[in-house]
Amino acid sequence: MKIKKASFITSSSDYTQCPPTGLPEFAFIGRSNVGKSSLINMLTNHGKLAKVSGRPGKTQLINHFLINDEWYLVDLPGYGWAKVAKSEKEKWGAMIHDYLKLRENLGCIFVLIDSRLDPQPIDVEFINWLGEEQIPFALIFTKSDKQSKNKTQSAIAKYKRYLRQFWEELPPTFVTSSMKGEGKEELLMYLQQLIST
Ligand code: GDP
Repeated sequence: MKIKKASFITSSSDYTQCPPTGLPEFAFIGRSNVGKSSLINMLTNHGKLAKVSGRPGKTQLINHFLINDEWYLVDLPGYGWAKVAKSEKEKWGAMIHDYLKLRENLGCIFVLIDSRLDPQPIDVEFINWLGEEQIPFALIFTKSDKQSKNKTQSAIAKYKRYLRQFWEELPPTFVTSSMKGEGKEELLMYLQQLIST
């Protein structure tokens, strides 16, 4: 797939406010600073579609972008800001959980993981929740340019071993670098596949 057109549609504070469900949609989520905005901008060939390096406490909204007049790319608010109050975290949880469970045209959620880190409890908890709820997802290991290929591969193998404690079957995985453009074609091909099925 080539992304020829990408435009911001709306920000919603609740899944009921999201655009009509006539088009398929795919969402991206991850810990703050994992590289989600950079990845969205890389995929859409757009320098500034998603804002890079957000601040803690910024408004936590579900952002819809229309791609090629064909599908929605959804930028979900990042989790894991240490400085965010508990009440904010709970609000985030309810909003995201409702969206993920109830949004009927959601085809897949892409969970971004920093390829340099060992499995982090906050990510694993979220991944396990997705598995329990049977919500289709894929993993994206980001910032691969920050270390050698070998290191990234062994970090991913370690991650998979860790998840196998809980799950027999693991989701599709991708490796990306928004700096180098790595993983872009693979992700776009996968999205095309999901749209066509
Ligand atoms: P977000 O908070 O998840 O949206 O993360 P951002 O996209 O804002 O990125 C956080 C920081 O990581 C910024 O300083 C980016 O320039 C940097 N970054 C994001 N992706 C990459 C990548 O693939 N490679 C490198 N080297 N840095 C990246």
